[in-house]
Amino acid sequence: MNKAKSAADPIALPAGLPSVDRLIKDNRLADLSDRVGRICLVEAARAVLEEGRRSLLAGGRIDPDGLVDRVAAHVAAATASSLRPVLNLTGTVIHTNLGRASLPEAAVEAMAQAARQPVDLEYDLSAGRRGNRDSHLEARIVALTGAVAATVVNNNAAAVMLVLNTLANRRAVPVSRGELVEIGGSFRLPDIMRRAGARLVEVGTTNRTHLRDFEEAMETRPALVLKAHTSNYAVVGFTEAVPEKELAALCRRHAVPFCVDLGSGTVIDLERFGLPHEPTVQETLASGADLVTFSGDKLLGGPQAGVIAGRSDLVARIRKNPMHRAFRLDKLRVAALDATLALYSQPEKLAETVPTLRALARPLPDIRAVAERIAAGLERAAPDRWHVAVADCYSQIGSGALPAEALPSVAVRLTPQFGRSKMGKRAAGRALRDLAAAFRALPVPAVGRIGEGAFWLDMRCLETPEPLLDRIGDLDWPAPP
Ligand SMILES: *Cc1c(COP(=O)(O)O)cnc(C)c1O
Repeated sequence: MNKAKSAADPIALPAGLPSVDRLIKDNRLADLSDRVGRICLVEAARAVLEEGRRSLLAGGRIDPDGLVDRVAAHVAAATASSLRPVLNLTGTVIHTNLGRASLPEAAVEAMAQAARQPVDLEYDLSAGRRGNRDSHLEARIVALTGAVAATVVNNNAAAVMLVLNTLANRRAVPVSRGELVEIGGSFRLPDIMRRAGARLVEVGTTNRTHLRDFEEAMETRPALVLKAHTSNYAVVGFTEAVPEKELAALCRRHAVPFCVDLGSGTVIDLERFGLPHEPTVQETLASGADLVTFSGDKLLGGPQAGVIAGRSDLVARIRKNPMHRAFRLDKLRVAALDATLALYSQPEKLAETVPTLRALARPLPDIRAVAERIAAGLERAAPDRWHVAVADCYSQIGSGALPAEALPSVAVRLTPQFGRSKMGKRAAGRALRDLAAAFRALPVPAVGRIGEGAFWLDMRCLETPEPLLDRIGDLDWPAPP
């Protein structure tokens, strides 16, 4: 092992601390040593002894009997996964910071299978030579959307980048000023365009853009016209946008490809689930879009991916861009997306089989039933001064779908009863943040949201109460101020 480290051992031995060797030979660590091996145990013992040494130097005391437990705890921390399952009780169904879509069971199985063994990812079994990675997905996307061709890359941001870089490097791309979107802070359309090499030509105004504005923009001899779905905001009031059909016709007259970044991009009519209409990929292509880009892990409910669907000559050019290779999918996500898309051939089953759609279509009484059980459990456990109630609330789809629409939902609402004075308000605010932290400190962290003087746990994404109910006893309630 590391010489410097071993040489440091002797000075790490003030009175009261054993040597690394003696510590790891403790009988109580024998099983652990078998399980994780000597190197891992030595690292943990070193770290524990170093902590002990510092504590002694700082005038503290150590409990020699506690060292073994500390070593076991260090090993547990070193071997635990950093990525932890959480309960999404935020009310945002497609939550980017919480990993977006929970995958359909069929996709999880397909992914596990592809993970364990070699697969014909890019191998043509009938010809016995190199095949095409897109072949697994293209036929399904074509069948679902009515596109002629399709390719799939790492995410939708990559899809947009690739379309622009392939078709519009060093050339003009008109975009309506009402559609220069920023999504999640790191996807800002003007920045992406610049990095892709395209020259942004701003068209119209923030609230109103007319066909004649695009007609004028044709004088810049654009490489393509881009329409971005204004997915996380709505321009309301005195507004005008050019209908896709008209814009598509104008583009066709000038032989300029018309590309639409749909973002969420659903391939089914969400009205079937009682949700407001969201433009589908099919409709957009039928309106005359030459290429459509959309995410795999938003409304589609699959793994992170970016789909580019449309004209075959354009898709062929995109495939030849070296960036396509840099943005390609690995076998796990090809497997997961393939399995997710396969579920769309059984449309009546989607509200069961695709968790994202299941959460969005979930009947209110189901959500309320879970909220009531959780509320009852919290009521029993809550110290005085915390008021627990079942309350109506609104969930949102998240990740930019249907921005102006909210989904009625049911939450458990916790309110601190710490007085109404200015001091009381500040104390209540602190208590709310402490309570939110306590829920996040549970073995399976529960993430809620603070608003309107309360802590809210939206039950839309909690299918059964047990994962939270069984852990309420572990909650470390904040002490009243
Ligand atoms: C979400 C979104 C993107 C980015 O997609 P990712 O899959 O997150 O990379 C791009 N454009 C629009 C309109 C979006 O809604």
